[in-house]
Amino acid sequence: MCEVSKCKVCGRTHNSRGDVIDNTDGEYPEITIVGYCNECWAKIEAERDAEEKAKLDALEEAVKLNPTAETYYNCGYEARRLDAYKALAYFNKAIELDPGYVEAYFQRGLLYRESPEYSGRLDDKAEDGRPVTDAKKAIADFTKVIQLEPDNACAYYRRGGELDTLGRRKEAIEDMQKAFDLDGDDYINEEIVWLFTRWGIPVEDPEGNYAEVIKAARNIN
Ligand SMILES: [Zn+2]
Repeated sequence: MCEVSKCKVCGRTHNSRGDVIDNTDGEYPEITIVGYCNECWAKIEAERDAEEKAKLDALEEAVKLNPTAETYYNCGYEARRLDAYKALAYFNKAIELDPGYVEAYFQRGLLYRESPEYSGRLDDKAEDGRPVTDAKKAIADFTKVIQLEPDNACAYYRRGGELDTLGRRKEAIEDMQKAFDLDGDDYINEEIVWLFTRWGIPVEDPEGNYAEVIKAARNIN
């Protein structure tokens, strides 16, 4: 049976690819999934692009008047999704002006990362279809963050993801364990448990007790 959804905006029925389909003949079961059809989603994205573009324009004006590491960083942060290459140039400039700018290294590392995730990566904009993400560059940036902020759990977590992309599983596990030890962040901890499962490290989590899960995984490795 083909899976159908109802668009949150226009109320029309669409298939899993977002194409609006005719549902008047009662061929489909009761619709319980709600999403966006392609047309409505395109409008939502266009509005979001326009909003982000307006914000970026304002920040780019601000950087002209006051070119500091922070104003460049702000431009880079806002440009991440619209134009990852532009964002990269801004983060480079921020780091050039302030070589101790932790957030700039972290955000640049996210642009470079190869581990699959949401948009805002350099390969989203690769014109010739060639990915330009670079796990080694991402690792270098996350390592810099860790040097500057040894308790930064997110940097360990992100670096672990990139190490895994390069097939350096043992180091990846070490980073993930470190991230887990440092942080009480539920999102990261859940991701780590999920990764360990994917990596074939047996994870039993009947009570949602992640600390015990990681301890168990550590004993196995
Ligand atoms: Zn719609």
